[in-house]
Amino acid sequence: MAQRLTVSDGVSKKTSRVRVAVRLRPYMSRQDEKDEGPCVRGLDSQNLEIINWRNATETVKYHFDVFHGEQTTQQEVFLSSVKPILPHILNGQNASVFAYGPTGAGKTHTMLGTAEQPGVIPRAVREVFNLVSAKDEDEGWDYSIGMSYLEIYNEKVLDLLSPNSQDLPIRENKDKNILIPGLTHTAISSFSDFDKHFIPATLNRTTASTKLNQRSSRSHAILLIKVVRTQRALPHRQQTGKLYLVDLAGSEDNRRTGNQGIRLKESGAINLSLFTLSKVVDALNSGTAARIPYRDSKLTRLLQDSLGGSAHSVMITNIAPEYRYYFDTFSALNFAAKSKLIVNKPFTRETVAVPVLPVKRSREEHEAAGSGA
Ligand code: ADP
Ligand code: MG
Repeated sequence: MAQRLTVSDGVSKKTSRVRVAVRLRPYMSRQDEKDEGPCVRGLDSQNLEIINWRNATETVKYHFDVFHGEQTTQQEVFLSSVKPILPHILNGQNASVFAYGPTGAGKTHTMLGTAEQPGVIPRAVREVFNLVSAKDEDEGWDYSIGMSYLEIYNEKVLDLLSPNSQDLPIRENKDKNILIPGLTHTAISSFSDFDKHFIPATLNRTTASTKLNQRSSRSHAILLIKVVRTQRALPHRQQTGKLYLVDLAGSEDNRRTGNQGIRLKESGAINLSLFTLSKVVDALNSGTAARIPYRDSKLTRLLQDSLGGSAHSVMITNIAPEYRYYFDTFSALNFAAKSKLIVNKPFTRETVAVPVLPVKRSREEHEAAGSGA
């Protein structure tokens, strides 16, 4: 994991970058009524390209820490983007994994998955139990694992393990740890124990969603796995590691769909949290911002001790290849990537001779085109 080292007043302070992965889900013909084919395609394990809407004979090429193509399995996503950060949770460090992207692009598939193709959440929880049971008795620490499960909806924090919960406050203690007083925290002793608490809460949320205007696409679902280790000998030192696994609200631009009233209010709240998240990730990854705006939304405030700083964070940006997602894909890619290149290379019509028009280009674009990228 890339880390930047800043030295101030003789004290070294680590600021982790947020690692950015992009996952392209398979093309679905039922999502493509006009039968236009895909408008995005992968190039290699770090690059992809999307048709340039300003000029369909060009593509825009993006570079990421990792690109997961449509053939990528759940296991591969887990192994490359999530598994490496889990050992830190047992050492009292924090971590967070987010699924970002428009509704329908595969966030829930990535995080939750299905019984046949389990996603990041079940795999990560199993791995945490495996790591704990592989710990040597002789190391002298006892481990305990617990979970909380919450939702941020309309800038309200709701406990998914306690039905009918009210908006909960977010607090910071003197050690700069973020806490939610009143949030249910359940000790879990095995993976099946986890499932026993997690599945009914997830089902509750999904059932509510069909009644409440697709609430699941408008709220952030946040699973917290906490590992506490206690030294057996005096002075019984204790360390807590937190892992946040987050299925974010859809990143689509709700202004375009003409929402009104309550749904417009929801959109505003969602946009505030996602907008703030993008500013926080930007500030962390550019390393230049003096102030990281964690306090500007509930989501980023809650994640303050687990995003940036000494925490390990991964953002999996999910995108869909059909044209109907085009503008939401574009904005998701622009959020995830800080650099892009216009390339004059035909995309879907590559077997057809495209007349070459004299277009005025910048030098950078010339070089990109010339490099045969
Ligand atoms: P989101 O949570 O972002 O709204 P979903 O995870 O519900 O999106 O995915 C939308 C649809 O696409 C679902 O039917 C899901 O099963 C399917 N899907 C998403 N990603 C993949 C994938 N990588 N492989 C196969 N099917 C996928
Ligand atoms: Mg979903």
